[in-house]
Amino acid sequence: SLPTPEAHLRAVADTVEHRSTGEPEFLQAVREVLDTLTPVLAEHPEYIEAGILDRIVEPERQLIFRVPWTDDNNRVQVNRGFRVQFNSALGPYKGGLRFHPSVNLSVIKFLGFEQIFKNALTSQRIGGGKGGSDFDPSGKSDAEVMRFCQSFMTELVHHIGEHTDIPAGDIGVGAREIGFLFGQYRRITQRYEAGVLTGKGVGWGGAEVRTEATGYGAVFFADEMLIRAGEGIEGRRAVVSGSGNVATYAIEKIEQLGGKAITASDSSGYVVDEQGIDVDLLKRIKEVERARISEYAERRPGARFVEGGRVWDVRGELAFPCATQNELNADDARKLIANGVRAVAEGANMPTTPEAVELFQEAGVLFAPGKAANAGGVATSALEMSQNAARSRWDRDKSESRLHDIMRDVHAATYAASERYGRPGDYVLGANSAAFVTVAQAMLEQGVI
Ligand code: GLU
Repeated sequence: SLPTPEAHLRAVADTVEHRSTGEPEFLQAVREVLDTLTPVLAEHPEYIEAGILDRIVEPERQLIFRVPWTDDNNRVQVNRGFRVQFNSALGPYKGGLRFHPSVNLSVIKFLGFEQIFKNALTSQRIGGGKGGSDFDPSGKSDAEVMRFCQSFMTELVHHIGEHTDIPAGDIGVGAREIGFLFGQYRRITQRYEAGVLTGKGVGWGGAEVRTEATGYGAVFFADEMLIRAGEGIEGRRAVVSGSGNVATYAIEKIEQLGGKAITASDSSGYVVDEQGIDVDLLKRIKEVERARISEYAERRPGARFVEGGRVWDVRGELAFPCATQNELNADDARKLIANGVRAVAEGANMPTTPEAVELFQEAGVLFAPGKAANAGGVATSALEMSQNAARSRWDRDKSESRLHDIMRDVHAATYAASERYGRPGDYVLGANSAAFVTVAQAMLEQGVI
């Protein structure tokens, strides 16, 4: 006879725990999903029978490789490269590459695991994967970044393809890196296979609004949650962490919708600007000059820089964690709640600790998990793949309106699943259950593989 849902979930959690020594981020991401699936398994005992969960927590394939390159002083440097091809039940593996010193197998596995569910929520036909390296692009010359990217691709080329695995950007990987990676892919394969990478330059196969899509999408999702509750973004103060493309374009969209985003941050601290962040100045400092966030306060009258501080000390009705994993903990959540936060939407992947999520939910704060809220980036990547396959190019209006439609659909599907499984408005339950059923059903129909 079949184990009960509870017993089955416990057994799967035990197995993952046993196998994940030294992988705390991965274990955290798996637990977060397993914790919500009891009602889904009660409805679908066939998923227990088919071992869907036992299979979904184990990557289909994991690659770790050496990335040797030569720096500007002619010294040989060695980094570690990763690609985790997690699940391809819905389509080819899809997910970004992260270049950051904190990257290790645990981080890439957690991101790849999240990506399976996020990608499923977009309703595009893409599986889940993630990759990256512990290479630190900050302080490197363009020539060093290029040599690193060429070496990284010299190995990765064997494992990717437009029908196999399609990388894109993430922290530390933007248009510059995607350009270098694509150039090397094209050179080695002698194929202009545009759909093998997304986030390309818009002049050579990239989609309009891809750079903006994650940040815009997170704000669209927050707006949908607020609209459902009879409210909106307009006139509200938002605290935003980060200053990469997710944070920058979240700030831009908040301001376009009539809200006021008053903070931005990087690893050195944060800036507060009560007039609302000047997005053009932020872009110039971060995208063009690649300088520190303190520069913003130097040049903007009335803004101030708080060295080493964290934006969650600032009062705001909306909070958008758009920097990195586990950047918003229980203490931060308590502060935000005391300061009257109404909605939190994760622009980054898993930025909120499990304890903080629980506090927000208990306090009745609308909480959007990254799997749903930040799905706009990868969704637009899938639109880029479609345009590449059709040799077409959509204009900005069409690209943004498709993104907006997708985020409305992600919100609706997530909310509907939260109702179906008994906790209306619990978007964590909604996102996990809606995504899991989509992937599980495909796996069930495709047999034990
Ligand atoms: N890195 C982004 C994410 O976390 C986008 C991935 C993609 O476009 O493939 O979803």
